[in-house]
Amino acid sequence: MMRNPKLLALIALITFIAALAGTMVGRSLAGIGTEPVNELHVLLYDELDLTDAQRRNLKLLEADFAKRKAFVEKQLGADNAAIANAMEMEHGYGAKVEAAVDRMHGTMGKLQKLTLEHVFAMRQELTPVQARRYDQVVAKLLRNADK
Ligand SMILES: [Zn+2]
Repeated sequence: MMRNPKLLALIALITFIAALAGTMVGRSLAGIGTEPVNELHVLLYDELDLTDAQRRNLKLLEADFAKRKAFVEKQLGADNAAIANAMEMEHGYGAKVEAAVDRMHGTMGKLQKLTLEHVFAMRQELTPVQARRYDQVVAKLLRNADK
């Protein structure tokens, strides 16, 4: 058992920093993450004058995306827990922690791909005129993703 309060404090600090770093890495890796996609949805649903048929098709895409996203986000939660467990075991940045962090990055990559797939799937439903405005917003969001 650990009885050294300084060591415990240090571990708590490392865990905190790792969690923080994880969040920041998550933001930059996710790039076009939840927030920007929300902005895209606002444009799509409020400003592009969609037809009923377009809305129907998009609704199916949204349901599919929500399901896949929830699955990957659950995996991300498990990955984060695995990092915490590995830190408890290794009390620092050891092989288990590194492997757990790599796993989390893999999952974040999946989430990013899934999100981009959704962005392009939604675009498929648009007319050329709508798609032009859509592309402008996508380009803007991608450029701002790292800020
Ligand atoms: Zn969508």
